[in-house]
Amino acid sequence: MSLSKIWVLAESQDGKPTSTTLELLTFAKSLGGTLEAVAWGEDVASIAGEIGNYGATTLYNVGDLGDSLPGAPVASAIAKAVSEGSGPDVLLIGTTYEGRDVAGRLSVKIDAPIITNVTGLEVSGDSLVASHSIFGGTQIAKSRFTSDKSPAIFVVRSKTFAPEASGGSPANVASLPLGDIGATGAAKVVAKHVEELTGPKLDEADIVVSGGRGLGEKDNYSLVEELAKLLHGAPGASRAIVDAGWVPYSYQVGQTGKTVKPTVYLACGISGATQHLVGMKNAKNIIAINKDAEAPIFSVADLGIVGDVHKVLPKLIEALKARS
Ligand SMILES: Cc1cc2nc3c(=O)[nH]c(=O)nc-3n(C[C@H](O)[C@H](O)[C@H](O)COP(=O)(O)OP(=O)(O)OC[C@H]3O[C@@H](n4cnc5c(N)ncnc54)[C@H](O)[C@@H]3O)c2cc1C
Repeated sequence: MSLSKIWVLAESQDGKPTSTTLELLTFAKSLGGTLEAVAWGEDVASIAGEIGNYGATTLYNVGDLGDSLPGAPVASAIAKAVSEGSGPDVLLIGTTYEGRDVAGRLSVKIDAPIITNVTGLEVSGDSLVASHSIFGGTQIAKSRFTSDKSPAIFVVRSKTFAPEASGGSPANVASLPLGDIGATGAAKVVAKHVEELTGPKLDEADIVVSGGRGLGEKDNYSLVEELAKLLHGAPGASRAIVDAGWVPYSYQVGQTGKTVKPTVYLACGISGATQHLVGMKNAKNIIAINKDAEAPIFSVADLGIVGDVHKVLPKLIEALKARS
């Protein structure tokens, strides 16, 4: 595998590259080859500065896709470049809805294998070895491509790398023409629902306060929300209370939810099942409140409070309010 030309699928939101995009650019920059990115949308040029700041020299623009889902057109544009010999050696894509759509379609279009669910990447000789967290995060499996087919496509989970700007000048914007998309472009987005957020996003927040079944009932989740708000953090949840319908799926932390890496993670009434731990155990400081001193969450906690959330949380909220 050559590592001389790396492309990153650059997703953006509200006119800014997503944090996962910046993570992928940071890692790709460390490989030392030519780093370029692929984006789409109404105003791709507006992210060229930030993309360049993270090391990419060229930003390929697939164009404004209007109401189309990006999967088919973006995959076709990359496939066209690959078939014309101007594609990358390695393509890094984030584990997002759109990233996975592009990756799957591209893999089929160019008949290339794909490595997904990547939680780590390292250089070994002239190739990349991917890590995968398996069995609920208790084991790490390693994988690599055994063929030289380009591009080597890796679909990487967020929070795998720490984003760090390298200070480059704005990337040059160049057009990446669409390939044949056949009938696949027929699906149109007819409505978008944007979930209201009053604080930071769960997977970007510096402080996360999560609640679990130990809260007892849905109404008690308001304690978690109130504490998160006082700490300027984001509220999160275990799957148990998402499945119970107390909070939406977008709040879920863990193997089948979001991966978070905040400075402080506060787990309230959460047992610490491996599927939950895999999504938060890399937080810098973990505080757990659980009435069971034997709860597995304490095995990863830096500060453990053995107590009843119904008593500890109101006291904590009261103390914070008194301070402010
Ligand atoms: C394939 C698969 C994927 C999964 N993915 C995820 C995932 O992404 N995220 C996730 O979270 N889970 C996931 N799970 C589910 C996971 O295995 C656990 O069932 C879930 O995390 C448990 O949630 P919980 O800790 O809130 O509930 P419980 O395990 O029921 O724990 C509740 C805890 O609250 C404590 N408690 C009770 N009352 C109080 C009180 N008054 N004060 C303080 N503490 C109290 C109890 O001691 C207990 O430790 C997955 C499972 C599978 C099989």
